[in-house]
Amino acid sequence: MKAMEILSVEDTRAYAAGTDGRFHPIPGSGRERACDRCGRTHEIHVTVFDGNRTAVVGLGCALQDNLLTAPAYQSLGSAAKTLARLEAERQDRQTRLTNQLTAWAAILAMPPPPVTFEPAPGYFPGDTWALMGYARVLCNAREGFTQERQACLLNNWQNCQLRERTGETFDTYLAEKVEALTSKLARTRARLDQLLTAEQPPVQAGNEPAASS
Ligand SMILES: [Zn+2]
Repeated sequence: MKAMEILSVEDTRAYAAGTDGRFHPIPGSGRERACDRCGRTHEIHVTVFDGNRTAVVGLGCALQDNLLTAPAYQSLGSAAKTLARLEAERQDRQTRLTNQLTAWAAILAMPPPPVTFEPAPGYFPGDTWALMGYARVLCNAREGFTQERQACLLNNWQNCQLRERTGETFDTYLAEKVEALTSKLARTRARLDQLLTAEQPPVQAGNEPAASS
């Protein structure tokens, strides 16, 4: 009999952002697959190959069958969870980034509405509001509707449009976040691969393959 080989360890659960802004696994969201050892459904799937066929078991079941050492059980489990969480996080940020960029391009292509002015009671006498849709900026009586105020009003209007379309304000760091998550993902994937390569199921004295006669 050939030694068991662990092909993959996968956390099959979906992850979603919680109220704390961090990503957490959604209980019960794992891919349903009856464990080849105990018949129950596990959320973390370990695919093993015995030289003839592959089987899928739970992480705990793999440990109980001595397919994994206790440290490997910990490190593989944690790497698989991190990978699933980072993938969900990256997907979420990437979707938001795509939505923002698409919306922003559409907004830039729109003719901005005409500017109107309203008195600004409660401010200095002569101050006025410059309005574009429901975006507005305050203009002081002395300087009026300067180029800076015009640019600011246009930007406010564009941001209002973006909020309407995406439900979010523009996040200038979103692209950087996606990039950072992409490299974190690659590192976690490499770590998981490295752990899988390093991990040889411990051969127990009693389980050593008997020399075939
Ligand atoms: Zn099981």
